[in-house]
Amino acid sequence: MRIERIELYHINMPLVAPFQTSRWIETERAVPLVAVYSEGLVGWGECVASNGPWYSYETDETAWLILSRYLIPMVLGQDITDPSQPSRLTARVRGHNMAKAGLEMAIWDLLAQAQGVSLSHLLGGERDRVDVGVSVGIQPSLAATLATIRGYLDAGYRRIKIKIKPGWDVEVVRAIRREFGDIRLQVDANSAYRLEDAVPAFQAMDDQGLLLIEQPLGEDDILDHAKLQPQLRTPLCLDESIHSLDHARWALETGACRVINIKAGRVGGLWVSRNIHDLCQAQGVPVWCGGMLETGIGRAANVALASLPNFRLPGDISASDRYYHEDLIDPPFQLNPDSTLTVPAGPGLGVRPVPTRLEKVTLRRAEFSHREP
Ligand SMILES: [Mg+2]
Repeated sequence: MRIERIELYHINMPLVAPFQTSRWIETERAVPLVAVYSEGLVGWGECVASNGPWYSYETDETAWLILSRYLIPMVLGQDITDPSQPSRLTARVRGHNMAKAGLEMAIWDLLAQAQGVSLSHLLGGERDRVDVGVSVGIQPSLAATLATIRGYLDAGYRRIKIKIKPGWDVEVVRAIRREFGDIRLQVDANSAYRLEDAVPAFQAMDDQGLLLIEQPLGEDDILDHAKLQPQLRTPLCLDESIHSLDHARWALETGACRVINIKAGRVGGLWVSRNIHDLCQAQGVPVWCGGMLETGIGRAANVALASLPNFRLPGDISASDRYYHEDLIDPPFQLNPDSTLTVPAGPGLGVRPVPTRLEKVTLRRAEFSHREP
């Protein structure tokens, strides 16, 4: 399929509630959306880079620049025949994985539509529903945390993740256990600890039956995680540290973790995500799908990705109403009674933005066309 035209939409959507981690707080999501046109079809992609350089160095503004100036010219006019091609065409750009992944998602949507198959099918997915959980940000108080968790359990979520930081960790976990008993529970530190503080902090919660402890140490670290993991029974899970297939291999070879969180945006797209999935599967290491507060577009790609067989833990892929009063897509993603989301079965992503809703949240738009030389 020759890539004829690409549109970028810079959108901004208010979140239903502020989302606070150990390091930053988000109240709205400003992200670039990508629309790729070929042969009468349009593929959609969502770039998960957001308002500030907090989760990673990428932001909506850097992604807009890198897409406009470098990535889009590399694919415009190209004849795309296989799904590994977008990664290869943009490999000369160092980093900027979220920008790459947004563009690649749109092209995968297009390829799947052209084949008349779902994105899940194109990826090799095997499930029609995926297990999901909810990620609970740091709340103003313990009481607020317990009330928030109760709300999500009442809504049907069967796996809870809480954000933690030094001073907001073991006592919170114990309080949740006292209140809710044996629920599926995991914690995410977003790199808030250093090794010397992490050992006592996580040994203190090693008897709490957590599914995993996510990214306790530096966002660029593998070595210290490899020192921490043998001192704990609870599996460590790397998120921020894994940007490529090599990073995943290094983490597994050094024993830095026993679980990997895959986010297509973080690793540069669905192609790399599938390769990391396959590597982990071959080594018996489970993966799960992380979340970046996506709109329905990015959420559809996450759900498709999580339908692969080695996604064996619930993903941070909640229903649309956990994030937005009005999603870009209609109908929105809704939670099934068994704490799953249904994998879209239609061609490609199986969802697309409602034009009037897209227009309402669009800050600016740009268009790029291929001209025959
Ligand atoms: Mg995380």
